[in-house]
Amino acid sequence: MDCIFCQIIERNAPAEILYETDTVISFLDILPVNFGHTLVVPKGHFRDLTEVPQEIIGDLFSIVKRLSPVIIGAVQAEGFNIIGNNGSAAGQTVFHCHIHIIPRYHEDKTRFRRPQFLQYNNGSFSEYGRNLRASIQKEASTWKEK
Ligand code: 5GP
Ligand code: ZN
Repeated sequence: MDCIFCQIIERNAPAEILYETDTVISFLDILPVNFGHTLVVPKGHFRDLTEVPQEIIGDLFSIVKRLSPVIIGAVQAEGFNIIGNNGSAAGQTVFHCHIHIIPRYHEDKTRFRRPQFLQYNNGSFSEYGRNLRASIQKEASTWKEK
């Protein structure tokens, strides 16, 4: 398959692999925002987070949670961003699901802050809340988590 992350997982492409389990692998991002920028990736080929099976999600975020403080400590960062780009509209460029761990420093030049804030008006705040709750409740009846 023509997927660079699958090639890395299969050891058909080089990567600076940091850690792996049966279901998840992590390696250094080749174009880091800051040094130590790491990707955490399910080993199965899933296009984005919505495609990752529920039983793998726990493994994925458990590794994100485990690695983050180790990486941040090792590169003496002052904070970190956890980012997942899902879909090209969100900036995804490699269509194999991955979570970024990005070390951050007070004085670095990176800004993930929102360039603008919208305002809900004319009751649309509660309307969005009502509509989204209805969508979620409908879907949640099929979920195992309660
Ligand atoms: P996205 O924009 O899809 O969220 O992020 C994809 C990330 O994968 C980018 O940060 C990019 O630098 C990284 N990347 C792309 N190709 C390679 C590669 O061949 N090896 C590694 N280690 N990282 C890659
Ligand atoms: Zn893949």
